[in-house]
Parts: sequence; C-alpha cells; structure tokens
Amino acid sequence: MRRLIDKLALTHSLTKEEWISLIADRPEQEYLFAKARRAAQTYYGNAVFIRGLIEFTSYCKNNCFYCGIRRDNRKAARYRLGKEEILDCCRQGYGLGFRTFVLQGGEDAYYTDDLFAGLISEIKSSYPDCAVTLSAGEKPKESYRRFFEAGADRYLLRHETADEAHYRILHPAEMSFASRIRCLTDLKEIGFQTGCGFMVGSPGQTPEHLAEDMLFITELKPDMVGIGPFVPHHNTPFAGEAGGTAEQTVYLLALLRLLKPDLLIPATTALGTVDPDGRERGVLAGANVVMPNLSPVGVRKQYALYDNKICTGDEAAECLSCLKGRMERIGYRIVTGRGDPAKEPGGISCTT
Ligand code: SAH
Repeated sequence: MRRLIDKLALTHSLTKEEWISLIADRPEQEYLFAKARRAAQTYYGNAVFIRGLIEFTSYCKNNCFYCGIRRDNRKAARYRLGKEEILDCCRQGYGLGFRTFVLQGGEDAYYTDDLFAGLISEIKSSYPDCAVTLSAGEKPKESYRRFFEAGADRYLLRHETADEAHYRILHPAEMSFASRIRCLTDLKEIGFQTGCGFMVGSPGQTPEHLAEDMLFITELKPDMVGIGPFVPHHNTPFAGEAGGTAEQTVYLLALLRLLKPDLLIPATTALGTVDPDGRERGVLAGANVVMPNLSPVGVRKQYALYDNKICTGDEAAECLSCLKGRMERIGYRIVTGRGDPAKEPGGISCTT
C-alpha cells in the first residue's frame, strides 16, 4: 500500500481502482500524513492562512437534503446582513489582520447582482490589499463575470459529489448535477481562483464515489478544495443518518494534498465540530487554511447548516486568538496576507 501512496506523491494521479483501494482500506495513516505534511511544507512552510468568514444570509431557495438552512426547514431562523453590516465585519476583520474575506450564504434573491457587485467593489476599494472570496451558490455565467469584474478574486462552490446518481440522493430533483459542474467550469474560465469540495460520509457515499471525486479534482485542477464531515441536522430529511468521521476526513485531506501539493485546503469548522482537535489533525494531515468566523455573534447560531457547530458564541478576536494558540501548539503559525496559491515550491505568497 505504501507503493500507492508513493505513486500518488510522485505522479499526482491514480487509477479509479487504486483510489478505491486506498480510500476503502485507509492503510498506512501515519506514513501518509507525514508525506502530506512534507508536501504542504514544501509549498507553504509552516504557514497556515486565515480567512474571515462572513455568513451573510441564512435564507436559501434550495432544498438540499443535508442542509439546515434548506428552504423547507420552517424552523430555521432566517436573517440577512445589510451592506453596512457586512462592511462592518470587514472593518473589524481588517483590524484583526484578516486579508481575505469570504462571503458565504444561502442562495438568496434579495442579493441582486447589482447589490453584490456594488458590495464587492466597495470592499475592494476600502481594502485593496485584501482578497474577496464568494460562496453564494449557482449563478449564470454573466453574474459570475460581473462579480469578477467588480473585483472578486475567488469563488467556492463545492461540487458535493462527482457521481450523478449520488448527487440525486443528496438533492431534490429540481437541482442538477450538470448545472453544478457547469458553474465550476464557468468560474475557472472567467479566471476566479476556484474551489470545489464535498462532504465526507454523506448518506449513500461509497469509496467508489470518493474515487470519482478524486478523479474529478484531478481533471478540474481547482485552486482550493474544501472537505468536511457530513454532520446531520435535526430538522432535515437526513436527521437520522450517520455522520462522517474525523478519521475519514483527515485521511482524504492528506490524499488531496498529495494529489495537488499546492492546493489551498481548509481544516474546516465541521471537522472541528466532530472532533475537538479536528482542525489540528487536519493541519497535521496537510491542510493549510483555517476560516475563523467574522459574522456578528448575534446571528452565528442562526447560520446552522448542521447541529452543534462550534465557535458560535465567541467574538471574532477570541476565535482568532484561540486558533493562533491551537496552531502554535502543533508547530504552525497563522500568517496574515491574502494567502494566494503558491506558484512554486518554497514560494509562500504572503508571510508578513
Ligand atoms: N449556498 C452556498 C454555500 C453552501 S454552505 C453554496 O451552494 O455553495 C457551504 C457548504 O456546507 C456546502 O457546500 C456543504 O458542502 C456544507 N454543508 C451543508 N450542510 C452540511 C451538513 N449537514 N454537514 C456538513 N456540511 C454541510
């Protein structure tokens, strides 16, 4: 099995059968993690990038079976942040050292393309040294282009699964796999630093599906890949399903690092939710990004995609100092700066 891990580290690709056997058996964990850590260090040293996450709306027109803010969850608390509130989050974040703002939310028609484009250009003109990342779901290519022209740098859109039949298990018939993939190729074509990703241990997921995710990522060549365990939410159709584990997640995260060593890979909040040391374990398996919450504390509990989400009570400053301590204790350091993808080994983009 070491042979397969070595092959991946050397050639950055495996056959579907090879992926399946690595994913199904999870052999040689420590060997894999050490190799993944070294690969991350080659590009990023012991730097961990921070992104300030602003959860700007909990309204969503979609009805994804796994998600707590799905349209049909009548019990979900709904809020939306106005432009000034979002700009306030950025101001506070900038003061704390954040140089990337991630605007994430449900698909909410209140935020028209005009409003979004205006917001993006305002953030970029107030903070020209910052990157703006959007995570606002599926849009027509023209809308994506407007956001890019307004100054947005990055776009996160998890593909959720690269297997069409599995996509249909996770989503209602009105949503389409083809449209999700079309969005990702549009985003790349426009020039965004693009991120895809998936949940680990989502209902119906098999090693074969995960192998397809790996092949999809090999082909798409995204700049970022976000993965986290599926965590059931009590008011969704998947309330009674089993969740994903930290073990599965960090193993896949390490495989991703070897697949594409310059990737930006977050140790996600969901990973920190299923295991108190999840984010540290993620970084020790090759992750190089953390995304502390910059949303106003008053709304954090309302952005409930899954149960028991961590860090919903802390102020942004506390979140940051907690993560700084966590990273230092495992020999890493949080760096400010935009945290763009490294262009070559040893070329950390921003370490100031
Ligand atoms: N509307 C945006 C943002 C979605 S929320 C979009 O469509 O991209 C960001 C991610 O949270 C989703 O892509 C999904 O992978 C993850 N997520 C949603 N519900 C979850 C759950 N119950 N457990 C773990 N992750 C979840």
